[in-house]
Amino acid sequence: MADIIIMSPAATKKEIDTVIKKIKSHGFDINYSKGTEKTIIGLIGDTRGVPDEVFKVLPGVANVISILKEYKLASREFRPSDTIINVGKIQIGGKNLTIIAGPCSIESKQQLLKTAGAIQAAGAKILRGGAFKPRTSPYSFDGLGFEGLQILREAKRKFNIPVITEVLSPEEVDGVLEIADILQIGTRNMFNYRLLQKVGRVRKPVLLKRAFSATISEFLSCTEYILKGGNNEVILCERGIRTFDTHFTRNTLDLSAVPVLKKETHLPVFVDPSHGTGRRDLILPMSKAAIAAGADGLIIEVHPKPEEALSDGLQSLTIEMFTSFMEEIKPVVRAMDKKL
Ligand code: PEP
Ligand code: MN
Repeated sequence: MADIIIMSPAATKKEIDTVIKKIKSHGFDINYSKGTEKTIIGLIGDTRGVPDEVFKVLPGVANVISILKEYKLASREFRPSDTIINVGKIQIGGKNLTIIAGPCSIESKQQLLKTAGAIQAAGAKILRGGAFKPRTSPYSFDGLGFEGLQILREAKRKFNIPVITEVLSPEEVDGVLEIADILQIGTRNMFNYRLLQKVGRVRKPVLLKRAFSATISEFLSCTEYILKGGNNEVILCERGIRTFDTHFTRNTLDLSAVPVLKKETHLPVFVDPSHGTGRRDLILPMSKAAIAAGADGLIIEVHPKPEEALSDGLQSLTIEMFTSFMEEIKPVVRAMDKKL
């Protein structure tokens, strides 16, 4: 079962082309990755009937690897070094600790602009804000929709800050893409295969949240849907899972997923302590723990007046709290040899 072909550092272009031709003649697409030292070619598809020898005999091939997992493009075997995602001038992954902050929902121009300026001044690199909100109750505020996106565009321009926002359905992807720098897929949509396939075909990063009922394997298989479409820029986000305990916390933040994901994949791993706990007093301790566990970034809900928020006020930090939060995480960021 040939899944990944590693070319020797001295392989010529002609040898690489021959390997690619051979893969295609077996009916597979390829995922091509040219590193500084070696070229790695992944076979996309069900490779179970393809013996390693078919490729091992070709000149320039250093090794052929089988991956006995349901995901391979997401795996560390496929790409041993950390994937770094560029969003404008910002780099996500590697030695960077990236903070995304902003309100749960975009409610008004004044609310978003005020939050955007404040979180940027405090050191956040990316602004979040939901325009299409997936709400448990159909009677809850479900976002300003495209009007909200226009406000997000204004904030993006005014502060020259990249923005992330959730997209709920494949039909809305193109519209959201006009404004968003990163597309967010929420916990309720992690298993929405048509949506995953659609964002797999776009050329912008996707932050995929773990479904609150998903195992880590299911999370990685859903990630694979996006990568398989050709979009290599996926940020994974742990945001809490359902357990038996809901008395003190909204969800159970599974921080053990962070080192597991870092080991299994090359993709950046983020943590959302806001939805993960549902409580603003737990954001700081869980954020410190997430950074210590190896997270590449955090996504934090911030609202100028949480008591008036139309969604998730209880878990939102005030601007003042967020500003001191950014100071208080610094020692842990430094201890992990990362930079904000
Ligand atoms: C959100 O980030 O506002 C959100 C709805 O998150 P989740 O999908 O994790 O519930
Ligand atoms: Mn929210």
